[in-house]
Order: sequence, then C-alpha cells, then structure tokens
Amino acid sequence: MDLTTLSPTRLWVPRHVMITRAAADLPHTAEIIRRCEIAGVDDIRILPGNALTGLRGATERETYASAKNTLAVVVAPPSALKPQPIPPSADWRIDLAKGCPAHCQYCYLAGSLQGPPVTRVYANLDEVLGGIRTHSGRGSVTRGTIDRGDEGTTFEMSCYTDPLGIESVTGSLAAAISRVGSGEFGSDVQLRFTTKFDDVGELVTLDHGRRTRVRFSVNAAEVANRFEGGTARMPARLAALRAVATAGYRVGLTIAPIMPVPDWREQYGALLDEISEAVAGIDDLDLTAEIITHRFTPASKEVLLSWYPRTKLDMDEDLRSQKRSKFGGVKYVYPKQTMTEMRQWFTEELERRLPAARLLYWT
Ligand code: SF4
Repeated sequence: MDLTTLSPTRLWVPRHVMITRAAADLPHTAEIIRRCEIAGVDDIRILPGNALTGLRGATERETYASAKNTLAVVVAPPSALKPQPIPPSADWRIDLAKGCPAHCQYCYLAGSLQGPPVTRVYANLDEVLGGIRTHSGRGSVTRGTIDRGDEGTTFEMSCYTDPLGIESVTGSLAAAISRVGSGEFGSDVQLRFTTKFDDVGELVTLDHGRRTRVRFSVNAAEVANRFEGGTARMPARLAALRAVATAGYRVGLTIAPIMPVPDWREQYGALLDEISEAVAGIDDLDLTAEIITHRFTPASKEVLLSWYPRTKLDMDEDLRSQKRSKFGGVKYVYPKQTMTEMRQWFTEELERRLPAARLLYWT
C-alpha cells in the first residue's frame, strides 16, 4: 500500500473561526490559524473577550447550521484539565476539543454539550496533555476488568469530539500522538481515539511509537448511510484503517451504535467480512473491538429531535427497556431478548469472521 498518496474523502473546513482573547497568543493557536489559512478559511476572528457571542440564528435550524460551521479556539478551563475515569473505554479521558462538525442523527454528544453545537478546540494543549504526565501509571476503575495487554495507562481522546474530523484545521491529534510517541510522557502510556473520518495522510507519517490506538467507528451500511451525515463513507474508513495499521499503529473497531435493523445479521456479517478483507496480510496487526448497542436518554432524545426533526431513528421508549445509572439517570436500551440475541451473534461471528480482533467489551 502506498501511504504517500493517501487523500481524505471527507474534510471539514469551518466557515467561521472565532478565537477568544485568552487563546489568541498561545503557541497552538498559531498552528490552528496556519492550518485554517491553508484550508482556505476566510473568516478568522480574534474576539475582544472570552465569551463566544453571536452563535444563535433566528431559528433552531439556523443556529444548528451556523454552529456546525464554526470552530471556536478557546482555553480549556481548569475543570476540563483533570483527567476523568472513563470506563469501559480507557483509564482516563483527556479532551483535545469539545463538539464535532459531523451530523450523526444519534450523536453521542447530544444532551451532554450545552448550547449551540459549536466545535471548541483547546488552545492550551500543553496543559491538556499535562494530564497524561500526572496520571501515567495510575490505573482507574477499568483496570482488572478489561485485559489491555501491555498498553499501560490508557487515555481516551474522543469522548467529546471526533479528533480526526477536525485534525486538518487543528493539528492537536498529530501533536499529541508525536509527543506521546517520542516518550515524553514515559513508555507506559497509550492514547486512543475513535473516528468516522479518513484523514490519516498526516498520521501515517508520524513517529507514533505504537503508543496510539486508532479506532474506526463502523456500522452496517444501512445505519451508516442513513444516520451518519458529514462523515467518511464506510469503504473510506476501512481504507484508512488499513493505512494506519500498515503504518504500525495499533488499531481498533468501535462497532456502534448497533441497531437490529431488518436483516441485521446479513448487514453486520457483510461489515465484518469487509473489515477482515481490509486488515488481511498486515504485519503485527493489533486489532481490538468494542461493541456498543444503541441507547438514548430523555435529554439526548429531546436535543436530537430539535437538531433532526424528521429523523427516522427509532427512539420509541415503549420498544425499549430502561436502564438506570448509579446516579439515577435513565437510559433506554434494547429489550433483554434482543440484547442477548445480538450479543451472542456478535461474539460468535467476530470470532469466526475476524479472529484477529480481540473483543474488549460489549455494552
Ligand atoms: Fe456525534 Fe461522533 Fe457523529 Fe461527531 S462523529 S456527530 S461526535 S456521533
């Protein structure tokens, strides 16, 4: 595979870039501006203060559209700098950004972000990455429940964003991967992120030291094509998976959110076969799988219906079971029988069709 000719099929270029006063003079902001200028962004503004204003349009629709076209460069507040445990995905969470320019109708961020869905990238990158230093060697609650082999302390970077989706205009991911790869934070740490994009041309050139696991969010064609607007199509994601694995990265699959669409066995079977083909013959392949069924909360449903009022996404509470979190919140998941059937099928078929993949968890 010729890694020098890779070009992404989906690149996000914001229409507006707003830089807060506090972020204006930070070194990473200069890199963000450089990248935005190369990408052809005309409207790059330094705000007089630190508040993001003028984000609301005349209607919900306008507000949504304008926010999804805006990149805000801000300073992460101290509360966002302390790594948080993030089971079962990783030991700790660190955030390079909050918000995502894609348009998935089931978006995981709905209900957890306040206000218009602007993408905020953190300009104080040194401080964000400082959490790796302070938490290296400190296992969180996920340790002991999931076998992560020799990965050391794991840091998840995609809880509140798709970091690859914004990489061409931020550079945060390349900086994090290179710095961790160089051993700056020790040899016992591992970054991980998941993405629905395919912009891996820069990533494959980095000296990553095999200390980052690049996971691709994958789904049955019917689900991906219908609900994942603004993302790279599935064949492009699988080509990107092959490219990063060939470049020596540890890789992974986030098979999510699984939905029992009609013919789900055939659809997901075809997906597993395509993945198997995509990773065939790669030396030193280290491939994991995380499988997550679709769920929603009352808050996420309300936000998603305001963003996508005509969605065909099934969010009928009557067809779901309630699951309570330890803090009393409610999630709607598939009924027990559906969950059992899907879990059994996925566990067996993953082993049969994609034996190279190590299943980390199912939820
Ligand atoms: Fe939301 Fe992830 Fe889709 Fe972005 S890629 S819109 S974060 S589900």
